Amino acid sequence: MKLTEKVALVTGGSRGIGRSIVLSLAAEGAKVAINYIGDDAEAKEVLEEVKALGSDGMIVHADISKSEDVDAMVKEVVKTMGTIDILINNAGITKDGLVLRMKEEDFNAVIDINLKGTFLTSKVVGKHMLKKRTGKIVNISSVVGIMGNAGQANYSASKAGVIGLTKSMAKEFASRGVNVNAVAPGFIETKMTDKLTDEVKESYSKVIPLGKMGSAEDVAKAVTFLSTEDSDYITGQVINVCGGMVM
Ligand code: NAP
Repeated sequence: MKLTEKVALVTGGSRGIGRSIVLSLAAEGAKVAINYIGDDAEAKEVLEEVKALGSDGMIVHADISKSEDVDAMVKEVVKTMGTIDILINNAGITKDGLVLRMKEEDFNAVIDINLKGTFLTSKVVGKHMLKKRTGKIVNISSVVGIMGNAGQANYSASKAGVIGLTKSMAKEFASRGVNVNAVAPGFIETKMTDKLTDEVKESYSKVIPLGKMGSAEDVAKAVTFLSTEDSDYITGQVINVCGGMVM
């Protein structure tokens, strides 16, 4: 096990890709704080799964787009678990629409959670890690942050922003032993993609060289690699987990 004695905080860890990341880190021995915003039932279920793997953790409610929530969340996690060694900025939303029809509030909501939430959480946890002179931050971007996507201007802009934020933080934090990287998933089977029609799903699959959607576990494996000592000489990088959609 590569993460024994380590403490991780995963935002949006209650379902989908976040849940798989929580379980993958726990399987390597990490204790995991599971952040959520909706009903606590799903987060509690994930914590039970963590315990079944022989590890431990906690659930923590916070809206990552609000700085007062983020401050309280980080305080609670450090108080309960003693420290934070690994931060996974995973929470994210979509509010799709064509630019000419997109409401200003839908643009703002996506930027606020996906990009500002990643900044706010990294700022508070980063301060803690810099003091300790060690830490790993992994931000979940998306391939559409690299290649754009019609109908997702707000989401693509937020995920492109996450890449810029990742590279800038990597440069600022490197001298203090904190690595910052991003994982850009392609087309992954979760609740977020459930709502797409079969027709859209089929059209996506045609542009994936490996010919199929990815799983949340595929993403979690890359995130876990970037959370262990195996990736100590890697910072400021973006790993695309997308079946070859982006090369
Ligand atoms: P998902 O199933 O919709 O899960 C989203 C998670 O984010 C949930 O745990 C949700 O909490 C949490 N969340 C949403 N808003 C939040 C907020 N304001 N504060 C705290 N938590 C919040 O999504 P997913 O597909 O697993 O996506 C996870 C990440 O991967 C996102 O950043 C997404 O953009 C990215 N991604 C996904 C795909 C894909 O194909 N699925 C592709 C590329 C990138 P509750 O359950 O409590 O609501």
